[in-house]
Amino acid sequence: MRPQTVWRSIGLLQRPTISRRFIPHRAIQTATSRPVPNFAFAFDIDGVLLRSSKPLPGAADSLALLKEQGIPFILLTNGGGKHETERVAEISEKLGVPLDATDIVQSHSPFAELVKGSEETSALEHKCVLVAGGDGDNCRRVAEQYGFKNVVTPADILMANPAIWPFSNNFSAYYKTFARPLPRPIDFNDPSKTLKIDAIFVFNDPRDWALDTQVIMDLLLSSQGRLGTLSELNGRVELPNHGYQQDGQPHLYFSNPDLWWAAAHPLPRLGQGGFREALEGVWAATTGGPSKGIELKKTVIGKPYHPTYEFAERQMLRNRLNTFGSSAVNLTPLERVYMVGDNPESDIRGANSYRSTFGSNWQSILVRTGVYSGGEPAWIPKTIADNVYKGVQWALKSSNWPAA
Ligand SMILES: [Mg+2]
Repeated sequence: MRPQTVWRSIGLLQRPTISRRFIPHRAIQTATSRPVPNFAFAFDIDGVLLRSSKPLPGAADSLALLKEQGIPFILLTNGGGKHETERVAEISEKLGVPLDATDIVQSHSPFAELVKGSEETSALEHKCVLVAGGDGDNCRRVAEQYGFKNVVTPADILMANPAIWPFSNNFSAYYKTFARPLPRPIDFNDPSKTLKIDAIFVFNDPRDWALDTQVIMDLLLSSQGRLGTLSELNGRVELPNHGYQQDGQPHLYFSNPDLWWAAAHPLPRLGQGGFREALEGVWAATTGGPSKGIELKKTVIGKPYHPTYEFAERQMLRNRLNTFGSSAVNLTPLERVYMVGDNPESDIRGANSYRSTFGSNWQSILVRTGVYSGGEPAWIPKTIADNVYKGVQWALKSSNWPAA
């Protein structure tokens, strides 16, 4: 099952209430004579606007130009690990452009929709969820800001039960700085009393792959997410998936599929997708894996997957509505979004594959300032630009915008 189908099937994609009327011409003048553009931008961050936290050429000028022209944009990143408010404050300071938390979609932003659930999924607000990845327990605090009330980290589990993964004891000085007491102990004798986890979120790149792998494997093999238990259904060949993940285990969510990303090192570094592949390998070695017809059931969001683009577009439409008002956006609906990215596998593939349910057309612009190093990209963009500013200029010209 494709990730977007999973996300949609669990009822997480709400439709905006914005009504649309399609007007053939490019822009309508508002009462203030300011044209409402029928296009917008989505920018990746790492390798497009910043590289290892330093502004890339043309980044500040691009955002300043769009702000000045009243052209909407959103930052759409597979990064994360901080709350949206904190992240935009940093970017704002680096690029000298005022930004709001609603101007960014990070890899884990769509997880906020799981707090209240939907008609088809139960709310996770008061359930116990495991949050893995990120520095310290930053991601726990992000999850709490989203509204999750009961968040546990692998460090909490390790500090309460050091024997659960003895090879991380060398890092206990680090874990002590943020670990919290477990909401209930792990009781190896009484499964009804032991800590029960209802969902697993890999919010950001795990720092301690080994500990996180062990804790996640324990939960995937448990009965009903009760730590310290082992499901009796595991390996039962007469059951679907040979009994694996058939016993009320917590669902596993990944926020970012990127295998590689552009960091300070001259060569790309392994991303969260690398951790997922490693976990899939351990899962396959334990269960028999795909060669025996056994899969690791999980949901992966982030670029290039549809749910993330749809989430971003809904946020973009809300921002547009707030900026221009309902009559203006009804007269001039959003027809085109330029996705500017450095990674053909995520930014370009995602934009090329995305079929908007709101009627817009996404066009991809690949820049040369990040992961892409030249040659024919695996996913062909609408155009290739030396940097983000040149990409923006190309898009403005292609939309016949007067400032181009
Ligand atoms: Mg990038």
